Amino acid sequence: MGITTTAIHGGNSGTGATDGEGEMDELMLDGNAVAGLLQEVFAVEMTTAVMACRTCGAREPVGAVHVFRGAGTVLRCPHCDEALVKMVEDGARMWINFERVRTLEVAV
Ligand SMILES: [Zn+2]
Repeated sequence: MGITTTAIHGGNSGTGATDGEGEMDELMLDGNAVAGLLQEVFAVEMTTAVMACRTCGAREPVGAVHVFRGAGTVLRCPHCDEALVKMVEDGARMWINFERVRTLEVAV
């Protein structure tokens, strides 16, 4: 019984069992993995990122959209005036609503 297990791993004792467990862990990521991903995405130059408007389909660099500042910040589509992004900050947290953005295209 023990002989077959040893044969599979070519006598590399000790590491065989942990390799199997590692494969299982890849199926689920925790919140830290997502946070790292988001940080990578939004650390890029956002002014050249391209937003596609869900309402009219126009694609414009973030630097070209219309920005309105009031209680929060609203990014509006320069073509149809749709509110693409709404941002509200209370000093400790920021809420970002991308509801009317079909896609956000960034350089990687
Ligand atoms: Zn639009």
